[in-house]
Amino acid sequence: MTQLVPLGVTLNNGVTLTPSMGVFLARLRRVLPNNVPIHVNSGYRDARSQAQAMLTKVRLGDDLVKLYGEKVRMLLSLPLDVDTWTRTIQAMADRGIYISRHMRGDALDLRTRHMAPMQVQLLWRAVIQAGGRPLLESQPPHLHVDHLQGGGPTVEALAPLARAHRGAKASPSASPAPALVVAAVVVARLFGVPLPFPLP
Ligand SMILES: [Zn+2]
Repeated sequence: MTQLVPLGVTLNNGVTLTPSMGVFLARLRRVLPNNVPIHVNSGYRDARSQAQAMLTKVRLGDDLVKLYGEKVRMLLSLPLDVDTWTRTIQAMADRGIYISRHMRGDALDLRTRHMAPMQVQLLWRAVIQAGGRPLLESQPPHLHVDHLQGGGPTVEALAPLARAHRGAKASPSASPAPALVVAAVVVARLFGVPLPFPLP
């Protein structure tokens, strides 16, 4: 597949981008400062690449039910074998059940490894500005982005979170004010975004 990769964006070998992913990445590059790299670890996934990605997470000790929801319980009861998982994930997709938005072409994973915390924060905000929904994942560390065609939370909706985050940064020993914690938890639950600070 010929794919258009926007200037200032790099990809892992073997990553496939759909046209709408290219459009999103171009929009992201425009709103993100040039000193923050955009490197795509994963884009569109067929059943096999989805199986491989999930088996990697299992091996790294990640909680797949937490990440993907109850629909993965059946997979976890199967042998941890890429062919078995590929067949099952494909059979589910054939019935219209997609394990991941990557399989529908509506998710990208952006590299955060070796990035400074401030760069990750800028990337996180820029994703929202570009209309996407960011989720920080730890195994392996990356920023998962979906809702590539809009529908994620707005910058305005997340402003209290950003303020709380800056406040927490300025005085590392102080916890955010209780009201801010409640507001941030409500916003985070509402939009399914990660909290910008650990709960006290
Ligand atoms: Zn992802």
